[in-house]
Amino acid sequence: MDAEQLREHAHKMVDFIADYYKTIEDFPVLSQVQPGYLRNLLPESAPRNPESLQSVLDDVQKKIFPGVTHWQSPSYFAYYPSNSSIAGFLGEMLSAAFNVIGFSWITSPAATELEMIVLDWLAKLLQLPDDFLSSGKGGGVIQGTASEAVLVVLLAARDRALRRFGKDSLKKLVVYASDQTHSALQKACQIGGIHPENCRLLKADFSTNYALSPDVLSEELSHDTASGLIPFFLCATVGTTSSTAVDPLPELGNIAKSYEMWFHIDAAYAGSACICPEYRQYINGVEEANSFNMNLHKWFLTNFDCSTLWVKDRHALIQSLSTNPEFLKNKASQTEMVVDYKDWQIPLGRRFRSLKVWMVLRLYGIENLQKYIRNHIKLAEHFEALVCKDPRFEIVTPRIFALVCFRLLPRKNEDGGNKLNQNLLDAVNASGNMFISHTVLSGKYILRFAVGAPLTEENHINAAWKLLQAEASALLAN
Ligand code: PLP
Repeated sequence: MDAEQLREHAHKMVDFIADYYKTIEDFPVLSQVQPGYLRNLLPESAPRNPESLQSVLDDVQKKIFPGVTHWQSPSYFAYYPSNSSIAGFLGEMLSAAFNVIGFSWITSPAATELEMIVLDWLAKLLQLPDDFLSSGKGGGVIQGTASEAVLVVLLAARDRALRRFGKDSLKKLVVYASDQTHSALQKACQIGGIHPENCRLLKADFSTNYALSPDVLSEELSHDTASGLIPFFLCATVGTTSSTAVDPLPELGNIAKSYEMWFHIDAAYAGSACICPEYRQYINGVEEANSFNMNLHKWFLTNFDCSTLWVKDRHALIQSLSTNPEFLKNKASQTEMVVDYKDWQIPLGRRFRSLKVWMVLRLYGIENLQKYIRNHIKLAEHFEALVCKDPRFEIVTPRIFALVCFRLLPRKNEDGGNKLNQNLLDAVNASGNMFISHTVLSGKYILRFAVGAPLTEENHINAAWKLLQAEASALLAN
């Protein structure tokens, strides 16, 4: 590592990236390449001798860019956003510079301690109960993704139940959630050895705006306990992936408490909105939760990956995930005065991700972060109003945050309209001028317009809507 060479190359790379952001609107938002496009463009094997940075950057421009879908484009409205920011970027750079592997406190005390501090800051910002703060029995940890977050708490809950009911009870343990819950829960159940028939994804439909009904849950629980099964884990979502449904946390929390289930809240997307006092109500009921998760890498200006998880009982996690091989033993760990985050997660190694969170919090400040969220919600409201004005379209579920679920209404005598909406989605995405995604709710194919890219402004919303209207007109005329 030659410092002067780093300076020269890194400056070049920053210029390259800045130019990319400057011209990002010139690229098709959704990559238009065919599968396997890259193999024909690159050599069969790695180069024997070093090449220049310039030749690599030329290849990025010619060969990589066409295969990139531009998540940072202001006309990106698909899935959920994946925010990048200057602060997030700089934090990533610094993390890459130190390149520590902070599995135990001793491997880089600042990595562990900064993570504890910024997670406490965030917990206070979200007004999470004090039990989630590191000063008590709980605490926060940065996981890579919401999928890892739900996996580790499911393992902790499983082992807690096995200690209570005996090792042989694994096949009796039952998990509950709505059928709108992210598939990450199902994957966690698979990994956690939960019997495939014991993952109850309870039907949530239009009558509850796709939120889990406490009555449906109670009925299922009575039935299961009468059959000798053991309820042990309830997962609620604040902001489901399909339509941002919000499960009724206070009622679900009470049910979880009465059955002594672990209560996990997945607020991967919508948690960010809850830093605004007017949206904090959506996590009322978090008091009864055992764990709470949100992805800063979605809508909090923090580059991927950064999924924050808080637990009330850190020992439950540690009991499930700790190992203590000789080669990792050290005095600090033995005093039990320090946190060793290796015992709160699946891998051993971990990056210094708290740096980027710290940078985001400090370089923006809470007020600007709140303004950022509010602006996206205002833009989503604007899009919703445009849709409402055109009688050919309908809003399918109430908009709560910055996702609008809508569809083009089928013509008279036309079946359902699913094909029509699929064609509309394909047409606008193939134009390269915008990217939206879809879901299916109650058998209806629905278009999802998620506002949340940092560069999106009102003119991008208007242009996207104009394109949707034009393609809809063309489809309806055929
Ligand atoms: N939970 C919700 C509500 C989500 O929307 C998503 C992804 O969009 C996930 C979990 C999974 O996120 P991750 O990719 O961080 O595992």
